[in-house]
Amino acid sequence: MRALVMEKGEDGQAKARIAELTEDQLPAGDVLVRVEFSNLNYKDGLCLSPSGGGLVRTYPHVPGIDFAGVVEASEDARYQPGDRVVLTGWRVGEVHWGGFAEKARVKADWLVPLPDGLTARAAMAVGTAGFTAMLAVMALEDHGLTPDKGEVLVTGAAGGVGSVAVAILARLGYQVAAVTGRPETADYLTGLGASRIVARADLAETVKRPLETETWAGCVDAVGGAMLARVLGQMKYGASVAAVGLAGGSGLPATVIPFLLRGVNLLGIDSVMRPYADRVRAWDRIATDLPMDKLEAMIHPAGLADLPELGAAILKGNVQGRVVVDVTR
Ligand code: NDP
Repeated sequence: MRALVMEKGEDGQAKARIAELTEDQLPAGDVLVRVEFSNLNYKDGLCLSPSGGGLVRTYPHVPGIDFAGVVEASEDARYQPGDRVVLTGWRVGEVHWGGFAEKARVKADWLVPLPDGLTARAAMAVGTAGFTAMLAVMALEDHGLTPDKGEVLVTGAAGGVGSVAVAILARLGYQVAAVTGRPETADYLTGLGASRIVARADLAETVKRPLETETWAGCVDAVGGAMLARVLGQMKYGASVAAVGLAGGSGLPATVIPFLLRGVNLLGIDSVMRPYADRVRAWDRIATDLPMDKLEAMIHPAGLADLPELGAAILKGNVQGRVVVDVTR
């Protein structure tokens, strides 16, 4: 089986190599999966970097935080050979060996059956970013968001999480306002279903007033920092913000006034350790609520050998759309 293996050199720096491995070199686990597709996330960029980005603990290491494929052998009664499965999170590809290989051996608890109607390739176009976007939309709905409540804001809209959030919300009938710092992505975002583009600069800084005009019925926030603080003061009475990311910083220079005077909710979204029942629910919703033609427009195909270069590019913010990796290529 082919795999992309990170190995540490004498200089202490890790380097990628395409290697031939045997199954018995794979780590312990109860399900052996023939990986069909993986993808590239920011975290993969870190794991492919010479330092391992503080995520990789031991070498040699096989990165790849997401994968989808077919069960080849299973010691767990929940999975049989031939079952189609998807894996995101659980620190696979960081601490545990991941999906940049033709096979992976993992714990059955980490897997989710791939819903009918979703191919392994489509699941990897979705990946952690899209799965997290779905979790965010579900959290907003669970807190009362419906399309008649008004416009929903998506920050970091042209990124992985943002793009999928825009496409899902538009498909569900929401009016979507997409915040981007890249005006050249406007056509891409309206193509995904955004009804309005908001310039990043309009929300990039906090203001003295803790409350502004009630504007947004909901928000999927991939940016954090000053933008999240600003958005909190623009939420409608009783509305919720799903906090997903920190592309703009991990600080939160906010006041508690929107919580106290407008009953605004700040909902934390974690995808990595998410319990099984939520995962199944999210993947089922992805299969029904994400328009596949829109997803296709986001895909940038790649093979294992392309990953070192793409990993460096994603860390510099130079990757557009979703990189989907055919591990047999
Ligand atoms: P991407 O890099 O694809 O997208 C992030 C987007 O944020 C960019 O495309 C850009 O959008 C915007 N952005 C970048 N820098 C800034 C800045 N300084 N100020 C304002 N906006 C900025 O990342 P992902 O979509 O994959 O992930 C988004 C965030 O979510 C990351 O922080 C990631 O770590 C986090 N994440 C969290 C998960 C969880 O479980 N909670 C799971 C997955 C991701 P534009 O060009 O449109 O302005």
